[in-house]
Amino acid sequence: MDLNENVNSDPRRALPSVTRLATDLSENMPHLPSWIPATAAQLAIEAVRSEIELPPGAPKKGDLSVIKARCLELAMDSATRLKADWPRKVINATGVTLHTNLGRAPLALGAVEAASAAGLGYTNLELDLETGGRGDRLASVREKLCLLAKAEDAYACNNNAAAVLLALNSLAAGRQVLVSRGELVEIGGSFRVPEIMKKAGVELVEVGSTNRTHPHDFEQAIGPKTALLLKVHRSNFQQTGFVTEVSLGELVRMGQRHGVPVMEDLGSGSLLDLSRLGVPSESFVPSRLELGPDLVCFSGDKLFGGPQAGLILGKKDSVELMKKNPLARALRLDKMALAALDFTLSRMLDGSAEREIPVLRQIFLSASEHEARTQRFADVLTDAIDQQGLEAVVRQKKETVPVGGGSLPGFDIHSCVLTIQSERSAEDLAARLRGASVPILPRIREGRVMIDLRAVLPADETDLQEGLLDSLR
Ligand SMILES: *Cc1c(COP(=O)(O)O)cnc(C)c1O
Repeated sequence: MDLNENVNSDPRRALPSVTRLATDLSENMPHLPSWIPATAAQLAIEAVRSEIELPPGAPKKGDLSVIKARCLELAMDSATRLKADWPRKVINATGVTLHTNLGRAPLALGAVEAASAAGLGYTNLELDLETGGRGDRLASVREKLCLLAKAEDAYACNNNAAAVLLALNSLAAGRQVLVSRGELVEIGGSFRVPEIMKKAGVELVEVGSTNRTHPHDFEQAIGPKTALLLKVHRSNFQQTGFVTEVSLGELVRMGQRHGVPVMEDLGSGSLLDLSRLGVPSESFVPSRLELGPDLVCFSGDKLFGGPQAGLILGKKDSVELMKKNPLARALRLDKMALAALDFTLSRMLDGSAEREIPVLRQIFLSASEHEARTQRFADVLTDAIDQQGLEAVVRQKKETVPVGGGSLPGFDIHSCVLTIQSERSAEDLAARLRGASVPILPRIREGRVMIDLRAVLPADETDLQEGLLDSLR
């Protein structure tokens, strides 16, 4: 047959037309928004065309029906993807409060409302209502940050990586920054201290060794080109054994002797003292500032519990240099994040943060409350499993769970989880849970699927239960 002859010599001829494939797609997936079928068909045809390899002089055999089926398959994948809103809501059943892949800190309802009001309408973002003149978009946030941290001055930008970049560039461009070799950290693959230094236009001077850095290592490295002594928190690992580091206090004293500013990149910081909960004491920003560094910076969406932001506190001179830097404009916060940040700061000032801020609520949750909630959920789930004749065993188990996935090493909470055992392997069950109508992310440990309710919002318990039951069917 002519067609097959052609296909055998060049399988690309078997590719359907965009119109033909779009029609097939619409028949297979009715109710698609009208822009999708042709777009998805085009994407699929291009993808299949590049899948069909044709080494010169060696025509491959192409099968018309295989190619057609492949086009339809890819078009359906594309349509499913294009139709979906993103990001999708998921249920965090890992117990990890600050889960980077799941968007870090969930925001307080009030913070979301403030952001949405700022986004929906017009606000006095940069307007002084008294004079009618130009206002400062950071004025309110700056004042509240200073009040909470008892700091001289404050600044806020897009995220903590931006804070570090801006501070380095403002204080030390073209000059040297000294950092311990034990603190040249990488955070989540894309933030690496040596690389951010290069981009900031500063020269990195490594001091000491991987496991041990002494004050005299810094003393020896300080010279006329030294612009800054930097301390970086090891946010995602701990060093134990034969180790020594230079404390922030020691660094500050050295900086004062040599007239060199000192900065700490804290990563995870809080303006509330959470040490009674077992949160590492160095996370309390005001106590870091008392040691006298010029700047301390940390993330808004880690332990602080607010929107993505880089928060910087410290001496007026240093903050002023950052404010005046042309880079500041490129790294500034948008109005919605600022509104959410301002709400979060106000709750810290009025004492309602422990109730209102989800991150703090999750950390403050008592073991007995958590166990009682877990037991109630387990009872309902077990009843449903029995009623529906499913084969699964649900057990309550004590577990330690990290608060931050890579943001607070050594800070684990004694939690309690439900282990789910069925005929399916843990990987299979976890994959089914991810495929639930509201995807569920469990914790997997020792080959078992575990559900921790700590980071599950109360309103999501019904979806969690339904997803679990579906995955066991
Ligand atoms: C998390 C972290 C950063 C990056 O902060 P982002 O807010 O994600 O940009 C930088 N430094 C340290 C020490 C961190 O822990």
